[in-house]
Amino acid sequence: MGISIALDGPSGAGKSTIAKEVARRLGYVYVDTGALYRSIGLYAYRLGKKTNGASEVVPLLSDIKLELKYIDGTQRVILNGEDVSEAIRAPEIAMAASGVSAIPEVREFLLDLQRNMAEKYNIVMDGRDIGTVILPNAQVKIFITASAEERANRRLKEHLAKGQEISYEEILKEINERDYNDSHRAAAPLKKADDAYELDTSNLDIDGAVSAVLGIVDEKMNALRPAPKMAPPVNRFFYRLVRWIALLILRIPMKIEHEGLENIPKTGSYIVAPNHHTLMDPVAVSVKIPNISAYMVKDDVFKVKILHILKIFHAFPVKRGTSDRSAIKTSLDYLERGYNLTIFPEGTRSKDGKLGAFKSGVVFVASEANADVLPVGITLKRTRLGRKHLIVRYGKLIPYYKVKVNSMSSSELKHSRDIILNEVKGLIDE
Ligand code: C5P
Repeated sequence: MGISIALDGPSGAGKSTIAKEVARRLGYVYVDTGALYRSIGLYAYRLGKKTNGASEVVPLLSDIKLELKYIDGTQRVILNGEDVSEAIRAPEIAMAASGVSAIPEVREFLLDLQRNMAEKYNIVMDGRDIGTVILPNAQVKIFITASAEERANRRLKEHLAKGQEISYEEILKEINERDYNDSHRAAAPLKKADDAYELDTSNLDIDGAVSAVLGIVDEKMNALRPAPKMAPPVNRFFYRLVRWIALLILRIPMKIEHEGLENIPKTGSYIVAPNHHTLMDPVAVSVKIPNISAYMVKDDVFKVKILHILKIFHAFPVKRGTSDRSAIKTSLDYLERGYNLTIFPEGTRSKDGKLGAFKSGVVFVASEANADVLPVGITLKRTRLGRKHLIVRYGKLIPYYKVKVNSMSSSELKHSRDIILNEVKGLIDE
């Protein structure tokens, strides 16, 4: 299972707009479950069936095939091959959906489809019973509310914008009716899960509500992160000594500056992800970080016998261009034992100083270990006197859940690589 964020609440509280934007910001898939009930409502409505009558609706289910597709990040609902994403938005279909949704067989029918989405992707799912029934183990559950009057006002604006004629009174009546139906039905009634946060959006605009949700997500996911750790103290003592000497030696041939020191966490264990410029990078980056780091190093390096000495400093080989399971395992092992892990995501030094493409190793490890990523930008310049000048800039820690992938699909991997790449890019001088 991936990361699931469940947003439940009454109709018109702004769930779908908020969920869509939260999903976009996190790079998660947005699943609008109301669209599924609406599709069944639409099917029954088109056939002239009583949409709140189980005896009329249940026999239809065996003829219904529903699929969710994503086109340019937008959810489309496919009902027996027809894209009904627009048709289900008609006001009369909202009531039809509310009707069919009270039928237990309908809810059962849609259960697997919803759970499969959570199995495959990191998702933001909105509905009525996501936190209580569909995904009781969702990492984050939020119950979004707003007063009925405020919700009616918002719906009215939406309808007017679409040129649909309807009065405020009609909408308010419909909302009250739907609220009543949704919270009084026997099957999965609308109710806040015990472990859900409640967020009242009556006095929030969309931006405010999105920030509030992202804040809750942050808090919740931080609480689920493995506890901070450190490498063993004996090691750390040796390391501090070596670091001190290394810095002295490094400063002989070049000027070194470190910026963004306030962004360096005091404890481990996290991944350090710098761009790669010079042979000095591993040392130049590590000297300011309190915890000891292990280093993922391309295996070519170990072909040179003398360089096996690097193993004292926890360097281990990775076969590039393959998904090297053994290197990933060693990485996870180090993080587990409290070490940091330095991975140069470009996989090799940049010859011309330009930032190269990132490999996926850093994303694999961050995802499996739930490890945060510290982006580091390294810029090599010359001083006026022609001396080498290395600037090492530490960026803000990227929380693990922003880069964690679930399906390992190429688009998911790319999304996460890009997050890290863009942070590193922002830390390098042109
Ligand atoms: O959210 P939306 O207005 O599209 O949902 C339409 C109707 O579907 C709701 O009024 C509710 O009765 C039902 N529904 C549900 N459970 C969900 C999502 C929607 O019962 N998870």
